[in-house]
Amino acid sequence: MTQTLSLSKVVKLESGWYRGDFHAHTTFSDGYYDPPDLMEVARTEGLDFFTVTDHNTIDAFSHFGSPGDILIIPGLEVTMDEGHYNVFGIEGYSDWMEHICTDQNKIELQGKYETVPKVMRQAAAEGLLNSINHPLLIPWAWLDNNADLRHLHCLEICNDPTFIDNAANPQAVDMWTRWLNAGYRITAIGGTDYHYPQFKPGYSAPQRLSFPTTYVYAKELSGAAILAGLRQHRAYVSMGPQATFQAQVNGTTYDIGADLGKLEGNIEFRATVSHALDPVYVRLVKNGSVFEETTVENGQGNLQSSDQAVPSQPAWYRLDVIGQNGEILVVTNPIFVGPRRQPTLYKYGDFVNL
Ligand SMILES: [Zn+2]
Ligand SMILES: [Zn+2]
Repeated sequence: MTQTLSLSKVVKLESGWYRGDFHAHTTFSDGYYDPPDLMEVARTEGLDFFTVTDHNTIDAFSHFGSPGDILIIPGLEVTMDEGHYNVFGIEGYSDWMEHICTDQNKIELQGKYETVPKVMRQAAAEGLLNSINHPLLIPWAWLDNNADLRHLHCLEICNDPTFIDNAANPQAVDMWTRWLNAGYRITAIGGTDYHYPQFKPGYSAPQRLSFPTTYVYAKELSGAAILAGLRQHRAYVSMGPQATFQAQVNGTTYDIGADLGKLEGNIEFRATVSHALDPVYVRLVKNGSVFEETTVENGQGNLQSSDQAVPSQPAWYRLDVIGQNGEILVVTNPIFVGPRRQPTLYKYGDFVNL
């Protein structure tokens, strides 16, 4: 019997923040490592999990054996001229994959699923998660302006930072910020887009799996729990430093991704940063603007702040950690406060080039 990847397999029973990478290729598309060797790289980097996301194929799924110590989440990078997006949580084969899993470079959507919004809607209806990859990275930027953000669960705000065009990641953070302000609660994640360990022309350094790392809070280490954590926005993206970000209201503590709902009165925010190699700027961001900032000098420090919640006003707060050259080192998903803002614009193209 062919062993394949299961979302229900539990690797660790404990709840906690797990270290993962949401974008990696194997020899079944254009990756350097076969599945067992890719697993070994992930172990060496100290990852708890990664998603396998080959271009237009899921053939690697049955080649990971039955590892007891590391979680592999089944995914697929839908790869088209119009852009690339990952689908997470694939168990089995669905009819929307029929025209996608045919060619790793050139696919034509056809028939019942002739457009990206139709494919995304179907995958979402099947309980899978859609995540647009490297959205502003030329020449693989996302070009389908008709993609419907209501069927999108995640955005890869940090893709392989060794690629020479390092403007695409901060631009992706800016676009995600506009989505948050419009009322979307799409989870920001990172993916190394790991292909090979060698230095390549056009890159500033060899790629390294786990740069960036996405930390996800999950009730256990299983595919189902990690993907549930993503749905609840319980995640942050890191290029090295670790962070905590919490809100306190009336003695109750809320963590990254929490929705505090409508409330009135004082909210206390507390954040910590550790494992920073150099001095870093730590910013509490409210609705896209810097609300409070501080500098952390010696590898670790904290930020405290407070705000007054107004029951009629939607607000979101996140933590950013910025390096000395302006590079983004940490971005958390938000803590949401107040009534939920309902988006009025639905298409990807409504938010680009603003
Ligand atoms: Zn891609
Ligand atoms: Zn990729």
